Order: sequence, then structure tokens, then C-alpha cells
Amino acid sequence: MILKLPLKPQALTILGSTGSIGTSTLDVVARHPNLFSVFALTGASKVDLMLEQCLRFKPIYALMVEDAPAKQLEALLQSKGSKTQVLRGAKNLDELASHPDVDTVMAAIVGAAGLSSCLAAARAGKRLLLANKEALVVGGELFLSEVRTGGAKLLPIDSEHSAIFQSLPEDSSTWRECVEKIILTASGGPFRSRSPDTLHLVTPAEACSHPNWVMGQKISVDSATMMNKCLEVIEAHYLFGLDPSKIDVVIHPQSIVHSMVEYKDTSVVAQLGTPDMRVPIAYGLGWPNRIESGAKPLHFQTTPPMSFEDFDSNEHRARFPGLLLAWEVLKATPGSPAVLNAANEIAVHSFLAGKIGFTQIHEVNLRTLELFVPSAPHTLEDLLELDARARQTALQVISELV
Ligand code: NDP
Ligand code: MG
Repeated sequence: MILKLPLKPQALTILGSTGSIGTSTLDVVARHPNLFSVFALTGASKVDLMLEQCLRFKPIYALMVEDAPAKQLEALLQSKGSKTQVLRGAKNLDELASHPDVDTVMAAIVGAAGLSSCLAAARAGKRLLLANKEALVVGGELFLSEVRTGGAKLLPIDSEHSAIFQSLPEDSSTWRECVEKIILTASGGPFRSRSPDTLHLVTPAEACSHPNWVMGQKISVDSATMMNKCLEVIEAHYLFGLDPSKIDVVIHPQSIVHSMVEYKDTSVVAQLGTPDMRVPIAYGLGWPNRIESGAKPLHFQTTPPMSFEDFDSNEHRARFPGLLLAWEVLKATPGSPAVLNAANEIAVHSFLAGKIGFTQIHEVNLRTLELFVPSAPHTLEDLLELDARARQTALQVISELV
């Protein structure tokens, strides 16, 4: 089937344009000036990078969350004669995500801070490219119901989930009975072979140096603890509507196979490629077409041998105790994934600030889950309150640890 490319460029809001996913998105966008126009860019702290992006992509709006960076950006843009209008404040993120002139929203803010704008885009029926996995982990069923009622199209950007999406048949009404399980691959991060006894010595710099991917600090630490894979199991549960027992993880250090679907007849369909986030980003931007991503093609003749190992061995359980929490919180009271996410965001922040050790991230997550049993959230306000109270509990746990 030959699919027609749209005649009018897709108007994009890129939430978190100054981050790792945001800059990769703009890299892909720049390769296709006829397909995309940039309506709005948003950032938090990186004024110089936002200035550069505004001068190059000429968005109608640029938003910085806090006042001081917004003022700075406004002055710089004015001095360059730019017509881009500067906005400030988290509330305006929702406006830019749901604006009637926007077709597609790239959700690339890090953490639960991106939840409200994701829900706004979903409610407004946008094509929603979801990198911000924490938003779905926290939003859960409420997020999905906003997508359904708003008529939004949710497309995964996380490489594993994009791989699963690409490995499932197009007709989503038939595949459920045919799928035995999905298998998320995990690189194992920088500490896959490190002795568990020495993990308490890990520094933030060591935790942030991932062997295969260059990413923002928070997801880098999550990859080092494998909490990233924990969040991804939860993300997969919501995205594909699969029982947690049908979601498996395998460690694949080379990050070439991005994830797989095993069918009832034992056939396994996988998506492969070089580890470069521009591939799933280009897939999301171009879907249902395929567009150039700028990534290097995979050369099988020179690709290093691919290996796979069990994540559930005794040694990996000792290294990565957080991963198993995914299946536990999905069985627990609704709202538990949001509690785990909040605790983890606080713990990672405290680790990066040098307040707690690497292995204490898991202690904080576990203890917060023990202390704070949520009541089921039904609205965005419920979720935000739950998130705030779980953060308070995690901070309390940290104050008792240090
Ligand atoms: P970065 O830290 O590199 O970027 C985060 C972006 O969000 C930046 O634009 C940052 O602004 C902005 N931001 C930070 N805090 C806030 C806030 N409170 N309110 C509004 N905006 C904020 O993260 P990544 O790009 O690595 O990750 C983004 C999301 O994508 C995460 O959820 C991550 O899990 C997911 N993801 C990332 C992958 C990757 O390869 N990086 C792969 C798969 C998923 P500023 O920089 O100006 O401070
Ligand atoms: Mg991923």
C-alpha cells in the first residue's frame, strides 16, 4: 500500500525541546521542512539552547516554565528581531499542548511534571508522541480514558514500546488472542557486570555514563538502577493493555534488538536498528509512513555478536532489585505505580544532589511504597495530590536515612 504524505505540514508543539529527546526531535524535523512546522517549543532552564532553537525553527511560541529564564529569553529574542512570543508558567504548557492550531505534540518533559500537558493534548484529540513515560505511569487508566474520549492518537516514542508497536499487526482488534507475550529488551546499563557489593560506592557521574545511549540525567540514573525498565514494564501494560504476566524482560547489552513480540505459534517478531532515538522519533513523526531519521543503518556484517541474558538471576536481582517492583505495583492498590514514580523521582534527585547513595534509591522507593498506601485516583487533581503526598513521604524517608 502506498500512503500519501499530508499536503499541509504537521504543526508541532515540542514539550521539553531543550532536552535529549527534544533536540533529537528537532534534528529529525529539520530534515523534513515540507512535512513539519514548529508551533511551540518549551523548556525549563536552558535559555541559550532555547534561543538557538527559536532562531532556527521560528516557532510562534516559546515557553520557559520559570519567570527568570522566560524574561532572559524574551530580551534575547527581542534583541535578535525574532517574532516568537515568549510564555511562562506550567499552566501554559497545557495551552500549547491543546491549541487548536497544533496537530502533533511531542511529550518530552521529564517526570510527572509532564502529566498535565499530556492529558491536555489527549483531551484535545492530538496526535500524541509519548516519550514522557512517567506521565503514563502516573496517569494510568485516567490517561488512557482521556486519550479515548478526546480521540487522540497515542504513539510510543520509548524505543522498546515503538519496537513493540512496530512488531504488532496493524489491526489491533485481532492481535490480542495471538500474542503470547511481549519481551522488552534492556541493556543492563553501566553496572550490568559490576559486583553488587560495590554498588553503594557509585557516583552520579558513573551512573550517568550509559554504554549505548546519551540521555538526560534522570533516565540515565534510572537505566543504571534498571528502574527505567521497571517504569517501561508499567508503560507497556497501559499502552498495549496487556496483563503484567504477559510482559517479560531480557537483558541484551548491545541494544540492537529494541524489543520483541512472541506469538502463540512461537514466532517472534522483533524490531532492530542502531541505538539512536531519532529512529523511534522519526517513526512517530512520520507514522503511518516511514521518513528519514538521520540514524546510521545497521550493518549485520560488522555488528558485534548479540547476546541475551536472564534479568531474573540471583546476581541481577541483587544488582537491580527495583525492576521487580513493576509487577508488584501493578498488582497492588490502583495509584501504587504513581507512588513508586514519585518516590523514584525524589530519590534520583537526591542521589544526583549527593544526598543519598546509589543503593539507597531502592531503599527510598521500597520504604515509600510500604508507608504510603494510596486511595484510587479518579481525577487529575487526585493524581496530583497523590503525587505530592508520595513525594512528602519519600522526603521523610530520606531525612531518616541521612
Ligand atoms: P532531559 O532531562 O534531557 O530533558 C527534559 C526536558 O524537560 C528539558 O527540555 C527540560 O528543560 C524540561 N523540563 C525539566 N523539568 C521540567 C519541568 N518541571 N517542567 C517543564 N519542563 C521541564 O530528558 P530526556 O530528553 O532524556 O527525557 C525526556 C523524557 O523522555 C523522559 O520521560 C524520559 O524517560 C523519556 N525518554 C528519554 C529517552 C532518551 O534517550 N533520552 C529514551 C526514552 C524515553 P531544560 O533542559 O531547559 O531544563
Ligand atoms: Mg526505553
